[in-house]
Amino acid sequence: MTLQADLLLTNARVRTMTGPGHSDLASSVAILSGRVVALEDVPARRVVDLGGAVVTPGFHDAHNHMAWYGLSLGEVDLRLPSLEAVYAAVADRARSTPPGEWIVGAGYDENKLGAHPTRDELDRVAPGRSVWLRHTSGHMCVVSSAVLAELGLADAAVEVPGGVVVVDAAGRPTGLLQEQAQQLLSRLVLPYPVTTLVDAIERAGRVYLSQGITSVVEAGVGGGWIGKSPVEVAAYQLARDTGRLPVRVELMVAADVLHPLGAHDEDGIVLGLDLGIRSGLGDDRLRIGPVKIFSDGSLIGHTCAMTEDFADTPGERGYLQGDADALRTLVLDAHRSGWRVAAHAIGDAAIDLVLDAYAEAQRRWPRPDVRHRIEHFGVSRPDQVARAAELGVVPVPQGRFVGEIGDGMLRALGPDRSGWAYRGRSLLDAGIVLPGSSDRPVVDGAPLRGMHDLVNRRTDSGAPCGPAEAISGLEALAAYTTGSAYASHVEGDRGTIAPGMLADLAVLSDDPATVEPGEIASIAVLATYLGGEQVWQA
Ligand SMILES: [Zn+2]
Repeated sequence: MTLQADLLLTNARVRTMTGPGHSDLASSVAILSGRVVALEDVPARRVVDLGGAVVTPGFHDAHNHMAWYGLSLGEVDLRLPSLEAVYAAVADRARSTPPGEWIVGAGYDENKLGAHPTRDELDRVAPGRSVWLRHTSGHMCVVSSAVLAELGLADAAVEVPGGVVVVDAAGRPTGLLQEQAQQLLSRLVLPYPVTTLVDAIERAGRVYLSQGITSVVEAGVGGGWIGKSPVEVAAYQLARDTGRLPVRVELMVAADVLHPLGAHDEDGIVLGLDLGIRSGLGDDRLRIGPVKIFSDGSLIGHTCAMTEDFADTPGERGYLQGDADALRTLVLDAHRSGWRVAAHAIGDAAIDLVLDAYAEAQRRWPRPDVRHRIEHFGVSRPDQVARAAELGVVPVPQGRFVGEIGDGMLRALGPDRSGWAYRGRSLLDAGIVLPGSSDRPVVDGAPLRGMHDLVNRRTDSGAPCGPAEAISGLEALAAYTTGSAYASHVEGDRGTIAPGMLADLAVLSDDPATVEPGEIASIAVLATYLGGEQVWQA
């Protein structure tokens, strides 16, 4: 009996991402029942001549915020050049928003504006309104006096562990809430209804398909300042059931929702989700991933925990998001309870804490090939790169940070540490598998944009940012395919184009591995296939 495929994509330049250095090429892909069955021309019910276009594995964003991004598509876009422009955009939205409804904006960066917006100016442009503007990092926000009044913070701040209600010289809150202080807002804005979240998830997913993305990791659901609802998994499940989950999703669970379960002592399950649900449950469309633990804050917001002062704010080195010993214990308990851990750590002091905890966890309760992660791995000393490699830890840095917020990072780090930011080359040289990710909506999440910055290492203003950390176009493509698959333990199904693999494919106008480095971001996504189905076409 001869093989008959469902679909044959032919006359293509197929980057299979297999072979030595991921360098193998083919000219056809045959697909049967959602999987690749051959890399040659075989009989097929349908044949598509790609006219020489490039085919790669579907892109896989190892760290993004899907619902947050989908929600932000309906909010005021604050990626603006000046405070005047921010206030004008708020005033504009206030005019078109019914009284009593909130005015929500996202994406401002005080490094570009010169300062954070203030409650007084928000009150001036939108008198009496509830205004909530989120920083591009997501690690802080500014609210108007109406919101502060509802929180009981109109005239004086309160102490918040792991966060700050920022005040002026007279002790009056300015409207700026940092890190865990954002949680004070939770009782006013959360939870979002599941239907709102499903809308957001679908909106985000449709954008992802248009950019060649077929898999994402959602970096925190269910709780903490990052969660949108305590039943956030239900939103993803409903989206899936109703055909509104456009891409494959792995959900990180916010550590705040893990709790003691009352399991038998012998099980060693000291904390988790009800019923003992943990990392790995689900299928290739929707799966529970690691537990997300925040150890510190943001580099450009100067809230990440550093061992030395920030270059542009002497005397400041950020802070941890909790007591160091409590964070360590949380990592240990999650590890021994069977969770894969994804710890957010940006400053080198936070990275030390997490690496120490991972090392101790493996020493006391060894688990083979566990692949704990460090989200961002923002400012890493050379000794930390070597230690992460030795421990088998997967750092998850974001290439696009270099372009979009690189100027702020360079100012915060100064010349001596600028080479430590969001590394690429030295991670690969240490033998680490590098995933590709964006942290969308913190920055633009288009994978080809991320690859561009991994290769070119220039800020959007043109300044070199750790140029020694540049990687090749092929290595950047590997990050967004095989690297991210490895980080999610799905390299047996995704990340390469080979018989047996899921037929998740991006069809491109040019080859990121061979095009002029300055042109990678300009490559067009012509079509996207998920499980052998064409789910998007230019
Ligand atoms: Zn994130």
